[in-house]
Amino acid sequence: MRERIAETCVAAGRDPSSVVLTAVSKTQPDEALEAALATGQRVFGENRVQEAQGHWTARRAAFPDLELRLIGPLQTNKAVEAVALFDVIETLDREKLAAALASAMQKTGRRPRVLVQVNTGAEPQKAGVLPQDADALIVSAREIHGLNVEGLMCIPPAEEAPEPHFSLLAGIAARNGLSVLSMGMSGDYETAISCGATHVRVGSALFGERITPLKPS
Ligand SMILES: *Cc1c(COP(=O)(O)O)cnc(C)c1O
Repeated sequence: MRERIAETCVAAGRDPSSVVLTAVSKTQPDEALEAALATGQRVFGENRVQEAQGHWTARRAAFPDLELRLIGPLQTNKAVEAVALFDVIETLDREKLAAALASAMQKTGRRPRVLVQVNTGAEPQKAGVLPQDADALIVSAREIHGLNVEGLMCIPPAEEAPEPHFSLLAGIAARNGLSVLSMGMSGDYETAISCGATHVRVGSALFGERITPLKPS
């Protein structure tokens, strides 16, 4: 995967060191985490606070250079636990959560970096601030809540070409002076790299298909 990312960077005229692989380890068993760590992988993305604690709290001691990134939606009542564990929270999407993160940082003395998640396709079921409201949330997260906002994240609609969504995200980042763009997953990371991604979040293309528990009928 690192080789493929590097080749994609070269083809896009970008420096391969300008793109970080976030290995999405949600639902993966211990053997998969250990295998990834053994290759030198240190940047991991998780969707749920509780699962991430199980995966990483003990491993932190053995791997002090781990970087844990929360890529799933966050409820305000989990803000303290999230701030205590993660180095980067990629899913800030509302004022109330900005306030909860600021207060959690006060409480814990930790200061994870933050990305604002933008719902570029304005999908009702999807998390993320609407594109037209992104500037205001970025300003308030920085200036009112004092958060260290370093970039943006998006998940384009599954049924659409991703380029316009990646470009929209890059435009919002540029006009707000943000340098980090977390965009691209297993199916579209190459496109994301050509649109300026600095972080690609890859799960199934790295670990194989996730085993998702069947929902009770
Ligand atoms: C699960 C997930 C990914 C990884 O998806 P794959 O298609 O398996 O690469 C990336 N980003 C987010 C936000 C996810 O929830």
